[in-house]
Amino acid sequence: MHGEPVPRIPPLEGCLYCHREGTTVLSTERRFLGPRRYPLLRCNHCGSVAELDYDPNSADDWRIRYRRVNQDPRYYYVAVHYRRHGWVSASDALDISRRGYAQRMRVFQAESGDLSWLVPPEAELPLALRAGEQLMLEMRAVTLREVAPTTLFVRPNRGTVLDSGKCYLSTHRLLLHGQRQPWAHDLLTIERALYNDRYWLIVAHDAERWVQYVGTYLEDQLDPQLFVTVVDYLALNRR
Ligand SMILES: [Zn+2]
Repeated sequence: MHGEPVPRIPPLEGCLYCHREGTTVLSTERRFLGPRRYPLLRCNHCGSVAELDYDPNSADDWRIRYRRVNQDPRYYYVAVHYRRHGWVSASDALDISRRGYAQRMRVFQAESGDLSWLVPPEAELPLALRAGEQLMLEMRAVTLREVAPTTLFVRPNRGTVLDSGKCYLSTHRLLLHGQRQPWAHDLLTIERALYNDRYWLIVAHDAERWVQYVGTYLEDQLDPQLFVTVVDYLALNRR
């Protein structure tokens, strides 16, 4: 409906998805007879398209549903979280957008070697750290499995479970404070590190076997993308 007053609401001032300002366009034509009920919000920068449900008289009361999103890794966090929730209320949408921005900045920092934002864990480890080795991160609920040498397709549940427990990332190694015993793999032995919206997975090997560390995504822990980015940076600089 042309001429309808459009309220000043956050999704119209900047893109919640890519955080550019002035790149979103709202098509206010509403098709009451067609399948589309809500005006579409498009971003000319990232190409995302969302349905926006708002009341022109109430600037705080809106919700959004992303229909098409940009899958570039830099938008990983917002892609995962907007997709997971379907229609998202105003406060949740702003929350996801804010956390997505912070995560993107952290990933940039980690890629460029700025890890100053990490708060090193204080842990009583069963293994002594080496000279110059520093703990960087702690991740709970990690499983260690013995696997066949890495193939093109990896799955989180393949292989035989060796142990599980808290995993520590240091500047030199991955360490697992397992229920059965302590384990450690030098970052130089990492073959692959990957992530998706549910877990991160690292394949490594020592003289005897190939193993994979798998950590399930938990809301209160570092996101899998960010964890793998830090691992990648440290592993690359270990060579
Ligand atoms: Zn955008």
